[in-house]
Amino acid sequence: MQPEPCPCGSALPFDSCCKPLLAAQRHAVTAEQLMRSRYTAYVMRNAAYLNTTWHPDTRPASLDLDSEPSPRWSGLKLLHTTAGLAGDSEGTVEFVARYKLNGRAHRIHEVSRFVREHGRWFYLAGDLIQ
Ligand SMILES: [Zn+2]
Repeated sequence: MQPEPCPCGSALPFDSCCKPLLAAQRHAVTAEQLMRSRYTAYVMRNAAYLNTTWHPDTRPASLDLDSEPSPRWSGLKLLHTTAGLAGDSEGTVEFVARYKLNGRAHRIHEVSRFVREHGRWFYLAGDLIQ
């Protein structure tokens, strides 16, 4: 049986890519890993993971991923990263994420900002690029 590819588009099997992060078995080492795992959490509607990886200063009071119609995520492409490595305290990841809503295709082009505090990466905020 072929291993299930990770939704984040890394070309790695889900079991050795985002799954251990979503299962809190290990933490993201880089901002890029956190970005990928948060995309996978959107695909899998894992609001708890999105909450715990969202910086407390900017975390929404509630996150409803189950309202209908819900987006059908169809792919993540990383375009550019700055810093965000194991020894850094901040980093950015520019990406395009695609989804369909009510059968219509949409894309999000964003530069996400991440910070690392107490050894853990958090999503801080994102700037949309038009
Ligand atoms: Zn992944």
